[in-house]
Amino acid sequence: MLSVCGFAANGAKKVLLVGIDGVQYEHILKLNTPAFDRLNITKAYTGGVAGNKSEQKTISGPGWTTILTGVWKNKHGVVSNTHGLANSQWPSIYRYLHDANRQFKLYGFSTWGPIHSQFFKNDMPFLSAHAEGGSDDDNLNRTLKVLYHDSPDFIFLHLDEPDAAGHSHGFGQAYDDSIIRSDNRLGMLLDAVAQREQVFAENWLVLVTTDHGRDFMGKGHGGQTKQEKTIFIASNKPLNKNYQSIITLPNKHFGGLYGLPAQTYIVPTILNYFGVMSDIHWRLDGLPLVGDIKVNRIYADIGGKKCGLEWDMSTGSPSTLGANEHVAKFDCDGNADPLFIKGNKIYANIFNSGCTLQWDADKGTPLTLEENEHVAKFDCTDFGDPLQINDQQITSYINDQLCGFQWDSDAGTPITLGRNEHVAKFDCEGSPDQLVIE
Ligand SMILES: [Zn+2]
Repeated sequence: MLSVCGFAANGAKKVLLVGIDGVQYEHILKLNTPAFDRLNITKAYTGGVAGNKSEQKTISGPGWTTILTGVWKNKHGVVSNTHGLANSQWPSIYRYLHDANRQFKLYGFSTWGPIHSQFFKNDMPFLSAHAEGGSDDDNLNRTLKVLYHDSPDFIFLHLDEPDAAGHSHGFGQAYDDSIIRSDNRLGMLLDAVAQREQVFAENWLVLVTTDHGRDFMGKGHGGQTKQEKTIFIASNKPLNKNYQSIITLPNKHFGGLYGLPAQTYIVPTILNYFGVMSDIHWRLDGLPLVGDIKVNRIYADIGGKKCGLEWDMSTGSPSTLGANEHVAKFDCDGNADPLFIKGNKIYANIFNSGCTLQWDADKGTPLTLEENEHVAKFDCTDFGDPLQINDQQITSYINDQLCGFQWDSDAGTPITLGRNEHVAKFDCEGSPDQLVIE
């Protein structure tokens, strides 16, 4: 037994992503669901961050697009169920995997058609086989056939019955039955995966999720309430917990939902599992749930105090910064915000949005900055600026000039900064300030 498990663990990595539409997390717990019981399950959230740029309706179009892109609607652009194509600047998992390995055999079977016929229509040529519409059993059988007879690397299966039952009947027997039938289907899928692991020594990651919760009666959904925002992520692998230590969201709303992983975590989890998560994927709005997350922190000694590089929670404090931007600062309370230094960029996850360190092209925005100085910021939409990063300093070219990353000696320049805080900047005359990168 041990040797079989050990062997399988080293086998080729494969992923099955099962999406079950409109399942209220609490109903999985309440009902007898033996297939879900075979998995690790965590509560999670959708709908972006209420009141933030990432807020999106808790409906299927934005939800499935987030599940398959790893970003919220301010990036993927899908705001409704009839939106048409998602923003191709933020690719789907199909495209990411196709680009990572042209030999990958990808499959997608979706009872709810618009996922394939609208949002990711242009990705269909990457799939070895796909289907839209039909019944859940049609698409279950397509998936089982692939698992038993083909050599898939990635399969996405969308099942719809619970959402349809909820819309027709609200919570009650019909809704509960639809979840039990979904659990039954999940059991058949897990058996097929287990058989492949035995026969072919493959190593499968199974992820199960939903696009949104339901309103109080169970009939509708779309709003920003705790139970519409509550979803789940289930997996046959242990889900790492340390993402919780790097969450940067004030977590007082919706009963602490923002302390949980979000719908945006699915794509980074799959990319990381396949070992194809490259530097640029840290721009995504989620973090991987399998594998360790390694965090960096940057400190400077300012007047004998240990000051950490942080972002300002209030976006766009200096007037030139936009709604997607957060001013960068050194805070001398001894803490530093978690960062990811990847290649020549510095990434941060702010309000569960992937952001990158940049300079502002407008010089000297806050009053105390001079002509040759540019305020540093974290931008949550655009690409980060390329930086030269070594153990002790950061520099960057701005208009062909080499500029050093520094702090401003005047504390609290932009209005939102406190007395103990210094705005971060790139100075194109002086040398970069000495840093400690941990
Ligand atoms: Zn629905």
